[in-house]
Amino acid sequence: MARIYNFSAGPSMLPEAVLLQAQQEMLNWQDSGMSVMEMSHRGKHFMAIAEAMKNDLIELLAIPANYKVLFLQGGASAQFAMIPQNILNGKTKASYVNTGAWSTSAIKEAGKYCEVQLAATSEAEKFTTIPAFDTWNIDKDAAYLHYTSNETIHGVEFSDVPGAGDLPLVCDMSSNILSRLVDVSRYGIIYAGTQKNMGPSGVTVVIVRDDLVGLAPKAVPSVFDYQQQAKADSMLNTPATYNWYLLGLVLQWLKQQGGIAAIEQQNIRKAGKLYQAIDASSLYSNPVLKDYRSRMNVPFVLADAALDKEFLALAEKNGLGSLPGHRSVGGMRASIYNAMPEAGVDTLIDFMAEFERTH
Ligand code: PLP
Repeated sequence: MARIYNFSAGPSMLPEAVLLQAQQEMLNWQDSGMSVMEMSHRGKHFMAIAEAMKNDLIELLAIPANYKVLFLQGGASAQFAMIPQNILNGKTKASYVNTGAWSTSAIKEAGKYCEVQLAATSEAEKFTTIPAFDTWNIDKDAAYLHYTSNETIHGVEFSDVPGAGDLPLVCDMSSNILSRLVDVSRYGIIYAGTQKNMGPSGVTVVIVRDDLVGLAPKAVPSVFDYQQQAKADSMLNTPATYNWYLLGLVLQWLKQQGGIAAIEQQNIRKAGKLYQAIDASSLYSNPVLKDYRSRMNVPFVLADAALDKEFLALAEKNGLGSLPGHRSVGGMRASIYNAMPEAGVDTLIDFMAEFERTH
C-alpha cells in the first residue's frame, strides 16, 4: 500500500523528507558507526544532536534568553500535574479557562494540588466558542492562569493571546505549537507534546520563564522539578534520545520551509479552503463559531450520520486515513498539521464533494 494522507490527530503525519533522512541515517549516523538509538546520551555525537535541536527550537520560536527550554517525558499530561507542583509557590489557587476536553483534563489534574478557580468556560456552549476575554473573571490571588491554545478534540483555537494581569500565563500548545507565530515573552510557561507538529510521541517541550524555575517544594520528585531538569539540560534521567533526534529533524525541515511565518501562511490556506468547502455544502457541517475555528483540527459531521461508515470506508479506499472524530464527540475530524501537504487537503475536499454528489 502506498503512503496515505494521514489525518490523525496525533501521533500524526510526519514530513516525508524527515522519515527518509531518518531511514538513511538509521544504521550509521553521519559516519559515527552507530544508530542514534545506540548512542550514549553523554557522548559527543548525541550532545551535538541535542544542542542543534535545542538551538533550532530557540531560533524558530525566537525564545528569549530568560527562558529555559526543557525536553521531558510523561507527555503534556505530566505537565498538567507538574505545573501546579512547580509554580504554586505557596499559593492555594490557580485560575483555569475551560474551552474543551483538554482544558477539562488539565483542570481535573490541577485539582489534586490546589483549588481551581474557573476564570471562564464555554462548556454550556458545548465548547463551540471561546468566552470573550473581557468576561473572564481571573482571581488575582491565583498562582497563574492556564489555558489551552488549541482544543484538539473540539477544534477550537485562540487567535489572540489572552491577558492574565499580573499572573504568569501558562499555555498548553500541544496541538498548535510551531503552526503560527507566537510571542513567547507573553507567557510564563508554554508546554506541548511533540506528537502533532514536532515529531513522534515521547517528548514534551516545556518553555519556562526563569522566575518560575526553582519554586518547587522539596517533596516534588527530582525529574518533575523544572530547576533540576534545567540544571541537568533535561538529562536528569536518560532522555528519549531517538525522539530528540527526530524532533531535531522536524525542526530542520521547518526551517527549510521558511520557518513558522511561512508555514502559518500554508496553514491559513489549508484550513481556509477546508472550512469553505464544509460551509458551502449541505451534507457537511462544523459547529464551531467562525472566529474560533482551529487551523489544525477540523471536526465535521454529516447531515445523515447513517452515512458515516460509508464515508470513512470510501475515504480509506481513496488514501485518506484516520478521519474518524474523537470517540467522545463522534463524526469526523481532519487534523491538518504542518506536515500535511496542501495536496492532501485538496484531495480530501475533492473526495468530500464527490461523496456529496453521489449520496
Ligand atoms: N493537550 C492537548 C491539547 C492534546 O491534544 C493532548 C493530546 O492529544 C494532550 C494535552 C495530552 O498529551 P499527552 O498524551 O502527550 O499527555
